[in-house]
Amino acid sequence: MAIRRPPETTSDLLIEVRDLTKVYGTGDMAVYALRGVNLEVRRGEFVAIMGPSGSGKSTFMHLLGCLDRPTSGSYRLAGQEVSRLSADELATIRSRQIGFVFQSFNLLARTSALENVELPMLYAGISRDTRTARAKELLESVGLGNRLDHKPSELSGGQQQRVAIARALANGVPLLMADEPTGNLDSKSSAEIMTLFRRLNDQHGLTVLVVTHDMNTAAWSKRVVTFRDGRILSDQPVAEAVPEAVRAVVDETHAAVKEGVRV
Ligand code: ADP
Repeated sequence: MAIRRPPETTSDLLIEVRDLTKVYGTGDMAVYALRGVNLEVRRGEFVAIMGPSGSGKSTFMHLLGCLDRPTSGSYRLAGQEVSRLSADELATIRSRQIGFVFQSFNLLARTSALENVELPMLYAGISRDTRTARAKELLESVGLGNRLDHKPSELSGGQQQRVAIARALANGVPLLMADEPTGNLDSKSSAEIMTLFRRLNDQHGLTVLVVTHDMNTAAWSKRVVTFRDGRILSDQPVAEAVPEAVRAVVDETHAAVKEGVRV
């Protein structure tokens, strides 16, 4: 597969968060969305972020994704302190470090799968021939080599999400962040998408962070961090966080995929 390995660095830690807080609004209107969060994620981990609505998951992912800045605390991404950077500096870091996958796919509607995947490379200034070749390779690697010219409306939800994953990988980033990536998919397409994340994690060393409220989705991860009221309530290996019966389904699918059976 055409996934570039993350660059070698001296540190194994990709994410280091210390006492992170986020307050929206001021005075009587202040909402304490994050109340002092500490988390470390090593390169190559696969983490699910869970928790009830309003517990701070999205706020936390926005901060980790360099889409917003914290009120206080420290966030080091790939060894660099990013919590006080300007919006432009954050945009540069994002394009080098992070690929995003969303619940609603967020593909350009009138644009082919190939062009959708090429787009981040266009912004990164990569030449036309190189980006077309790489976009083709990426789409082939997610099983869509025969859908290059299809527009999103001509693809199923699962296929659209695979295009979105190929797009997220276009710039060779080390970190994939997904917000409810299976929220709009049926159970079979959800399993396909999670299988793909797992393959990218197992075989290509990508670090994967997935926000989900769905145990079936979290079961594909290797570590489950649960938020409650703006704090981390628990941080467990998946075997402790997800019931065995739910994990059994994942293990069966995963074993079938390893043997080369497509799901
Ligand atoms: P979750 O993703 O777990 O549902 P959020 O991070 O969206 O939680 O929200 C955490 C808290 O912060 C909630 O009380 C929410 O209402 C509040 N919040 C989130 N975003 C904003 C915002 N832009 N302005 C004001 N309050 C917000």
